[in-house]
Amino acid sequence: MNPFKNALSQLARATSLHQFPASFIERMQHPDREVTVSIPIVMDDGSTKFFEGYRVQHNNLRGPYKGGIRFHPETNIDEVRALSLWMTLKTAVAGVPMGGGKGGVTVNSRELSLREQEALARGWARAMADVIGPKKDVPAPDMNTNPHLMDIMTEEYAKITGDTTRATFTGKPVGKGGSLGRERATSLGGFVVFDALREQYNLAPGASVAIQGFGNVGGIAAEIFHAHGYKVVAVSDSRHAVKNDAGIDIPALVAHKKATGTFEGFEDVTFIDPSEIITYNADILIPAATENQITAENANDIKAQLILELANGPTTPEADDILFARGIPVVPDILANAGGVTVSTFEWEQNLIGEAWSEDVVNERLTNLMQASTKEITAIAKELNTDLRRAAFLLALKRLEEATR
Ligand code: NAD
Repeated sequence: MNPFKNALSQLARATSLHQFPASFIERMQHPDREVTVSIPIVMDDGSTKFFEGYRVQHNNLRGPYKGGIRFHPETNIDEVRALSLWMTLKTAVAGVPMGGGKGGVTVNSRELSLREQEALARGWARAMADVIGPKKDVPAPDMNTNPHLMDIMTEEYAKITGDTTRATFTGKPVGKGGSLGRERATSLGGFVVFDALREQYNLAPGASVAIQGFGNVGGIAAEIFHAHGYKVVAVSDSRHAVKNDAGIDIPALVAHKKATGTFEGFEDVTFIDPSEIITYNADILIPAATENQITAENANDIKAQLILELANGPTTPEADDILFARGIPVVPDILANAGGVTVSTFEWEQNLIGEAWSEDVVNERLTNLMQASTKEITAIAKELNTDLRRAAFLLALKRLEEATR
């Protein structure tokens, strides 16, 4: 399943519901620029290895290109293309003055030491220095990259260009140009969207939740849902999945995973096969790992009453159709996880004007934007009797098309 093909198919399904100029649709189908580089790294054993790195700048009609950098063994140009198109739509949905881009490196970072990961981060920043910048393209973390690596990239970029605004990368550590609230923003934004929709779907605190992925996004989402009285009954990471129908003690599991790096050894849960998580018997399903997890093969077996896409691209178009026919709402990634890029944009603004906002200010602005977008998307879905994904795409595309005029 090629994620870019899926993204183009989603685009076609949305554009068929509204008369957009053909040239505008074509523009959305093609990224503005794609850069592929080979990054040499001196490994700890003294050998030199080369890693393929990417930056796809999809569209900057509404502001500088913006999007994360992913370190993953399965990352390739098509995945980065898809993610960059979704970023263009996501920044438009969120209503922030940014465009869409994405970056990556094909690498299994688990096989790299911390020094090698830092060298790779420096290498990526060096290779892309000409095409990125505070007014051009502003990257951020994604899977297997983090605030520390953003700090390394920021330093490297400053060394090469002399730019000291620290506004070229977001998701930096707080105290080194990072924004309060950024770490939790994706998951908190997702919760705000969920909270704005839940009554409509008869969901309330006490409802059960299953979460695939327990990293920055999935782990913090588990904490937030747990803190609001939801019962997180099953979670997984790339190696294990655990369940407890009475509710998992999430703060204890987070502490255990932080201390040991694994779910192994955690008590009061039963270990299940990670493939069971998507069809787990829970009211709310949160994919928070990777693409193509909800497919035509498992969509008929899903038991959740609502799916909140915190991962990018977890649901294929075929699965969307099955879920829509079954009356199971899918809150699409470009709305549900837009909190991350929203607070990244706040970070960029704070860096450019030399301010540091309180976490309360950040969260309040985030909440207002996410609630407003949710309301508009729900209204479009209702008016056109369509799913939330098509509605979110339409909101984004209308804003983008307006920017062409
Ligand atoms: P991360 O690297 O911090 O965590 C990823 C988690 O997913 C890890 O727990 C990993 O073990 C798990 N995982 C990987 N493959 C898996 C699989 N096949 N099955 C089950 N678990 C698996 O990454 P993250 O930042 O939490 O990103 C997760 C998703 O959220 C990605 O799709 C990313 O693009 C999206 N996202 C992240 C942000 C952000 O701010 N970090 C913003 C928007 C969207």
